[in-house]
Amino acid sequence: MSIETRLKEIKQALPDRVQVVAVSKFHPDVAIREAYDAGHRLFGESRVQELLPKYDALPKDIEWHFIGHLQTNKVKYIIPFIHTIQSVDSWKLLEEINKEAQKFHRTIEVLLQVHIANEEHKFGFTFDEIESIHRTESLGKLPHVKVTGLMGMASLTDDREQVRSEFRSLVSFYKQLQSTYYKGDESFRHLSCGMSDDYPIAVEEGSNMVRIGSKIFGLRE
Ligand SMILES: *Cc1c(COP(=O)(O)O)cnc(C)c1O
Repeated sequence: MSIETRLKEIKQALPDRVQVVAVSKFHPDVAIREAYDAGHRLFGESRVQELLPKYDALPKDIEWHFIGHLQTNKVKYIIPFIHTIQSVDSWKLLEEINKEAQKFHRTIEVLLQVHIANEEHKFGFTFDEIESIHRTESLGKLPHVKVTGLMGMASLTDDREQVRSEFRSLVSFYKQLQSTYYKGDESFRHLSCGMSDDYPIAVEEGSNMVRIGSKIFGLRE
């Protein structure tokens, strides 16, 4: 099956509210081109050194989302063109994004990554940390950063109920944050959760942005 067909089938089966981030990491420019030529514009990459040459080589109306763990010293390379950084997992990173974005007179959209998995090594804020950032109005000090939602990754497990309950807690936190701190502010609108193996569960629970790699592009090398 072609990339175009797979993409079309995935999109057709999803409710209208759900956006698909095509995760193109480890796949070559030609594969991205194929999805682009089929009309897709939203792509996700997780490594700076891989994203930079892709950005250079590919059409400039692609909306690039950064989805991997981002080191502060690499922020400056992607600031000129990145649309959204989905994987913001520390206050220090938020400050760095703000600082670099200011130099380019840009405001960068970010999603706060929430640690929902039952695994030590996954990155992200706790619910409490995110709540506290909002309660203290600290974000007001970072005018070049715009929080447009949350991102989360469920545990890597065959236990579907575990995965479902992790997504459910994220959805409920997202709604609570929205109704407490973003009332009437429609820019806080993305809940990015669900990957190739678990996105149908995430969507059932209320996700409105899924990040799909292998199901579109095939297995990575
Ligand atoms: C690689 C990756 C994905 C996509 O994974 P697939 O299982 O190939 O769909 C989604 N989100 C993040 C953060 C990733 O690193």
